[in-house]
Amino acid sequence: MASDFDDDDDKGSSSGSRVLKEFDCPSCNANNPVDETFTDQDEVRCNYCGSEFKVTITSEGRVKYKEV
Ligand SMILES: [Zn+2]
Repeated sequence: MASDFDDDDDKGSSSGSRVLKEFDCPSCNANNPVDETFTDQDEVRCNYCGSEFKVTITSEGRVKYKEV
């Protein structure tokens, strides 16, 4: 068990999936806050370079972005 797991908000925790409010663009590295939250299998778009990414959250809570 990892003891340094970052747990920002434990209230009303649902099992597994996380909800995110921002992402770092894998293409241009810009930090993008989003108006609507996103989670696993959502798509996000970088406000800076316009690239779109499909979000995958692993069972370990790691977030991956795949360009679409
Ligand atoms: Zn970008």
